[in-house]
Amino acid sequence: MRYDVLTIFPEMIRAYLKEGILARAAKRGLIEVQVTDIRAFAGGAHKNTDDRPFGGGDGMVMKPGPIYRALDSVPRVEENSLVLLLTPQGKRFDQEMAWELSRQKQLILVCGRYEGIDERIRELCVDRELSIGDYVLSGGELAALVLMDAVSRLVPGVLGGQNSTQEDSFEDGLLEYPHYTRPRVFMGREVPEILLSGDHEKIRQWRRAQSLKRTLEKRPDLLQKAQLTGEDGAILEKLKEGAEKQ
Ligand code: SAM
Repeated sequence: MRYDVLTIFPEMIRAYLKEGILARAAKRGLIEVQVTDIRAFAGGAHKNTDDRPFGGGDGMVMKPGPIYRALDSVPRVEENSLVLLLTPQGKRFDQEMAWELSRQKQLILVCGRYEGIDERIRELCVDRELSIGDYVLSGGELAALVLMDAVSRLVPGVLGGQNSTQEDSFEDGLLEYPHYTRPRVFMGREVPEILLSGDHEKIRQWRRAQSLKRTLEKRPDLLQKAQLTGEDGAILEKLKEGAEKQ
């Protein structure tokens, strides 16, 4: 997977990539991140990348020229390499989309700043607009990092054998069960007995029930789309009955 990130703040992207899973993945050649400084494609003595909006109003708008030239400089790894614009107006990014994007060979990410980018770049160059949530950030860099992090975890080999994503929240439409590690007792609170039993089937059942319980309590909306078994249905019925009695 190759990412090309277009930004006027390249160091923001590079700083995050220095440590952690993405840094390891890059070292092992599983992902490659190229950061393109949009400012390098700006003309004039001041290398301005923004200008006042036509029609008036507050704030500045990113000029189309520098972004267009920066995009033109990015080598395309495949014919259908996607150009993604990070914007609060885009489709909401989620785990399903992360899986879909993880199958691409190259993602070209355009980070906006100020009031956003000139509309003509969106019309001429952008394949998809993505948002990481219904709030407004000061720039697309954090959004690009969120996307790269979520997608890279799904690239084969990035997490290694030990850290499978299979049971992560959202993978099967549910939130993940709770985790415990040593010590066995912490501030008077004990690890659930069943996790110490060594009975793998019972542990599996307990975790599934916890997963369903959490989803029902915290994100009941997810249950509409989750793939549930007959056993899951029975557990949910019991949980709902229990909640009604309380
Ligand atoms: N004026 C724009 C609007 O109301 O739609 C918001 C511009 S925002 C201050 C500046 C840049 O931050 C955007 O161009 C975009 O790249 C990025 N950004 C802000 N919120 C975002 C979000 N929720 N998801 C993805 N990118 C976001």
